[in-house]
Amino acid sequence: MTKPKVGFYWCASCGGCEEAVVDLHEAILDVVAAVDIVFWPCAMDFKRTDVEAMADGELAVCFINGAVRTSEQFEMVELLRRKAGVVIAFGACAQSGGIPGLANFTSKAAILANVYEDTRTTVNPHKTYPQATVQVPEGTLTLPVLDETVRALGQAIPVDYYLPGCPPPAKLIADAVGAILAGTLPAPGSVLAPNVGVCHECTRKETKPEKMLVTQFKRPHQVLIDPAQCLLAQGLVCLGPDTRSGCGAACPAGNMPCTGCLGALDQVRDFGAKALSGLASVLDAGEDAAIDAGLAGVPDPAGTFYRYSLPASELFAKLPE
Ligand code: SF4
Ligand code: SF4
Repeated sequence: MTKPKVGFYWCASCGGCEEAVVDLHEAILDVVAAVDIVFWPCAMDFKRTDVEAMADGELAVCFINGAVRTSEQFEMVELLRRKAGVVIAFGACAQSGGIPGLANFTSKAAILANVYEDTRTTVNPHKTYPQATVQVPEGTLTLPVLDETVRALGQAIPVDYYLPGCPPPAKLIADAVGAILAGTLPAPGSVLAPNVGVCHECTRKETKPEKMLVTQFKRPHQVLIDPAQCLLAQGLVCLGPDTRSGCGAACPAGNMPCTGCLGALDQVRDFGAKALSGLASVLDAGEDAAIDAGLAGVPDPAGTFYRYSLPASELFAKLPE
């Protein structure tokens, strides 16, 4: 029997999502037995021309991680969209922009100036910047062009499913592969993770007070964290109540607050606004000075609440050009 063909691709990505596939451990052998992996630049030496040679729709599924920031990434995801029956945005960067998406708080020009002129270790007296094309005796060399902004995958091409997380937990990946093979994927557009908050699977949930009141938020290095108590009740910025579960509450289990990498629940339009609102609702402060003091432990609110989702957020849509 012909096995379904599967591809993996990475765009603006740290490589962690590729590692997450390897985190399947021996279960990856079952995946390889059930499908033909025909494109995976991180692990196998297939070329773009191999993808171009495929018939449209020849790939049953393509998992794409990373955000879209360059002309090359956009060309590749458009090509893979044509070649794949199902495209899965794999990981927070593909789902909503992720960590690379924080670059949208500044401009392309400012980023290039910082990298090629301003950093202390840069010596660039002639202000030499990379060029998209360069003539050499052998011909024309080209480089991808950096886009003005970072885009989530769904802002560049139509996406069928979202596999959240930074990176996606191995269990969610295994469940998604199982659903693909069994033909039991949910409705297109679905996020392939439970639609309940991280608190739901957190071992500290019994210690989460019914009525939470916090007078001052603190950063993890500022307190001796009680390993059994709810982190939010201890004044740490734990975004578990507003973050989709599926990770086994791994960060709270490791004594670190949830930072929101699995993103918003289905009913939430903007993760950052929801998380900010959730935190504000437990802050026990009335006067401006008390509010400022209480929020001193959140030194970078935009980066805290939009750490994984700025490009796809309502906030970014409202930022000035
Ligand atoms: S989602 Fe996280 S692990 Fe995956 S590429 Fe982005 S930063 Fe890396
Ligand atoms: S530690 Fe965080 S995830 Fe766990 S119950 Fe408290 S708020 Fe929820």
